[in-house]
Amino acid sequence: MKVLVAAPLHEKAIEVLKNAGFEIVYEEYPDENRLLELVGDVDAIIVRSKPKVTRKVIEAAPKLKVIGRAGVGLDNIDLEAAKERGIKVVNSPGASSRSVAELAVGLMFAVARKIAFADRKMREGVWAKKQCMGIELEGKTVGVIGFGRIGYEVAKIAKALGMNVLLYDPYPNEERAKEVGGKFVSLEELLKESDIVTLHVPLLDATRHLINEERLKLMKPTAILINAARGAVVDTEALVKALKEGWIAGAGLDVFEEEPLPADHPLTKLDNVVLTPHIGASTEEAQMRAGVQVAEQIVEILKG
Ligand code: NAD
Repeated sequence: MKVLVAAPLHEKAIEVLKNAGFEIVYEEYPDENRLLELVGDVDAIIVRSKPKVTRKVIEAAPKLKVIGRAGVGLDNIDLEAAKERGIKVVNSPGASSRSVAELAVGLMFAVARKIAFADRKMREGVWAKKQCMGIELEGKTVGVIGFGRIGYEVAKIAKALGMNVLLYDPYPNEERAKEVGGKFVSLEELLKESDIVTLHVPLLDATRHLINEERLKLMKPTAILINAARGAVVDTEALVKALKEGWIAGAGLDVFEEEPLPADHPLTKLDNVVLTPHIGASTEEAQMRAGVQVAEQIVEILKG
């Protein structure tokens, strides 16, 4: 059986496929025309957020039984076309949860202790000790919006740091909340009470601009906002205003309404913001887990 690996895949995942006796064809991000040439005799395709597996590609692959997405989002796969042909689609939703959570907590520390700002100043030859007064995380209240896989990991770390944990989620998991010493409250209460608000919701109609001007104004002037979910969960314009006018104290952002973030974006001009280029899942461990989990599911489907 033949597997087309159409995106970079961790070597451990390749090993899983090889050990199952599959022939592997590797090509990084082929465009649609090239995919059409490649898929004629493959039993499985593995992609990441790229390339696009369109209806045309699926129709050109008579032997195709499974499409694997190393990661979470399936928007680059025509699920309807796959379903019509009875082709299974598998992914690895939990593979990066811990990595995203650790980045979110890293951003909390970076903003609370002005680490990125201090580093910038050092490189400018400025010893900015006086401007770098920070706060501790221990004893502070963190508000986790979206208590799913990533929110849970963040809350676990927050608990270990001695933080109080408030939670908001329309589908509250009380057992997990108990485990992290967390308390479910209304969104309004969470925003009013938290020293740090961290976002871990999917982007849905209901969560688009969930953090808007009105809600930013509910937060404490000393509060920090962390977004490692999706850029559009926050109204960026309102956030820039909030940071400039001191409605909140700072923000740590891994995701943006426009990615890549334009070089001259107002966020890049603010000292109380720490920015990272959507690297939540960019760890050795997350990439390995994502690849291996997908490879194992493919082996099971093709051999099962
Ligand atoms: P998940 O599905 O396990 O958890 C999401 C939680 O949000 C669920 O508990 C759900 O009930 C809750 N939720 C849904 N609507 C809500 C609302 N209106 N208000 C509050 N909570 C709501 O997802 P996850 O694996 O924890 O991932 C969360 C998000 O993180 C993803 O959707 C993705 O956008 C983002 N993410 C970012 C990166 C990165 O690189 N920064 C990597 C992976 C995922």
